[in-house]
Amino acid sequence: MRFHILTLFPEMVLQGLNTSILARAMKNGQISVEAVNIRDYTQNKHNRVDDYTYGGGAGMLMQAQPVYDAWKSIAQRLEKPARVVYMTPAGSVFTQKTAQEFAKEEDLILLCGHYEGIDERVLDEIVTDQVSIGDFVLTGGELPAMMVVDAVSRLIPGVLHNEDSPETDSFMNGLLEYPQYSRPPVWHGREVPQILLSGDHAKVDQWRLAQSLERTRIRRPELYEAYRKEHPPVSPKKRRKREQ
Ligand code: SAM
Repeated sequence: MRFHILTLFPEMVLQGLNTSILARAMKNGQISVEAVNIRDYTQNKHNRVDDYTYGGGAGMLMQAQPVYDAWKSIAQRLEKPARVVYMTPAGSVFTQKTAQEFAKEEDLILLCGHYEGIDERVLDEIVTDQVSIGDFVLTGGELPAMMVVDAVSRLIPGVLHNEDSPETDSFMNGLLEYPQYSRPPVWHGREVPQILLSGDHAKVDQWRLAQSLERTRIRRPELYEAYRKEHPPVSPKKRRKREQ
């Protein structure tokens, strides 16, 4: 999968992404990341990419022309039109579902804003998705874009080793992940739950599901409600029947 990031700070995204699992994925050719500097495309003789907003108000806005030309420099090299994702607090919230959807694309263009954001006209013309990473405001779209690249890349087959499969991660089944433990069996007087040492895989699965459900119910009630709508609790009578 190829990520193309439109940004005023290419070194920030390239350096930030070139570590650990993502660096290995780039080296192995499973993903590629290019960062295109929007400033390289400005026609302003002072190299400016921003200007005051019409109607007044504090702050500067990134202008349409350099963003459009930077996007065009990528789009005209691609065989097929690619989705263009504008990182913005005013977008729909990015979730694991969005990551799964983006992971199906061959090319993804991520557009990072700065200052007060970007002139709406160029967004109307080139952007296909507007995505927020949460209900707070950052100074720029670079960190959000890096988060999207990370979350999407780890879903691409081969990027994670088999043993790190994303299947049991939080949100993949609509629930938060259950607690996990590693050696030693007792640490600071705290014991690993006995069931996990029992070797009984069916019981371990049951315990993990119960932990996931309880954790989700307490920490993310809205996720729990949604899960329960799709998976209503089985009555003890029905469960006994199933087990017979
Ligand atoms: N004036 C904008 C608003 O109130 O919606 C905020 C602009 S913000 C200071 C500058 C840039 O940071 C945005 O254009 C966007 O690219 C990025 N950004 C800030 N917060 C973000 C978030 N929660 N999710 C995604 N991108 C964000």
